[in-house]
Amino acid sequence: MPAKMLDGPKVASLINAETAEEVKALTQAGLRPGLAAVLVGNDPASEVYVRSKTKACDELNIYSEKITPPADVTTEKMLQLVRELNAREDIDGILIQLPLPRPLNTERILMEVLPAKDVDGFHPLNVGFLSTQRPGLVPCTPMGCIELLRRSGIPIEKQDAVVVGRSDIVGKPMAMLLTNANATVTLCHSKTKDLIGMCKRADILVVAMGRAGTITKEHVKIGATVVDVGINRVADPEEFKRLFAGNAKREDSFARHGYTLAGDCHPNVAEVASVMSPVPGGVGPLTIAMLMSNTVKAAKMRRGVHLKTTVGVGY
Ligand code: NDP
Repeated sequence: MPAKMLDGPKVASLINAETAEEVKALTQAGLRPGLAAVLVGNDPASEVYVRSKTKACDELNIYSEKITPPADVTTEKMLQLVRELNAREDIDGILIQLPLPRPLNTERILMEVLPAKDVDGFHPLNVGFLSTQRPGLVPCTPMGCIELLRRSGIPIEKQDAVVVGRSDIVGKPMAMLLTNANATVTLCHSKTKDLIGMCKRADILVVAMGRAGTITKEHVKIGATVVDVGINRVADPEEFKRLFAGNAKREDSFARHGYTLAGDCHPNVAEVASVMSPVPGGVGPLTIAMLMSNTVKAAKMRRGVHLKTTVGVGY
């Protein structure tokens, strides 16, 4: 029987509904949460991402402000901008859309964001809070994966979990969150000796490599749960054929647009997994939902408000 597909948009809308309630309560208390999104230059993909984030703010009644410095802005000017946002009472979250243009010092700029407003959860202080299980801001995509599992009724405790990919943004925090949730975790990367053997041990396999269709049914234990974080643009016809030959819907879309979005898992993973997240329609919508949730969390923590929360409980 093919794997049951996890429903990312449905889980995201549940979380958004809870976030909207919290925003309402905060706004009634005169503490409407605010997010500043900084978009440097005019990279089309980054523009799309920022647009979807500010649109989500509008839908949940979170105040949002888009700041668009020119592509030739200096690191010093960016640091000054971040300092101004750090000091603003009406801004709870600061999002620096990555990647920044080449000459900018991304590391310095990200480090300047006040940890209390670091809604991406990238600051080393928040990384430390996560690893020591203290309250803090957790990176959105891995937190979204945990919420997707939890709200789909997939047990994590006592499970053998394998994460493929060790980026600071996805893989490492994912491994930490699963550890905090009492899974036994193995973290794999490009130097892992026996990737197939490692992956095959997983009850829960989370893949965040950025390599279209690399994880195949040979990597997956029968009955495993697979979370595919990868989002890859496939435009090469041969690559497309390797992944989607015979899939009429994909073929039609590929013919019309000249590309398709693929995860890091080959579609044949669905032949052995019992549950998996599709791409698109899996983890993607959760990332923005968690950004909204983090903005509210930042507002509450910074302003000392203790409201009931249902997102990220226990992690
Ligand atoms: P990075 O490129 O930063 O990290 C990729 C990781 O995969 C690295 O740790 C790398 O290992 C590992 N890797 C690459 N090739 C192999 C291989 N052949 N075998 C084993 N490990 C390998 O990517 P990100 O973590 O930023 O993103 C991963 C994917 O997730 C991308 O497709 C990205 O688009 C997607 N993504 C999706 C989001 C969403 O909202 N759904 C949000 C963020 C990312 P090493 O460290 O040794 O180089």
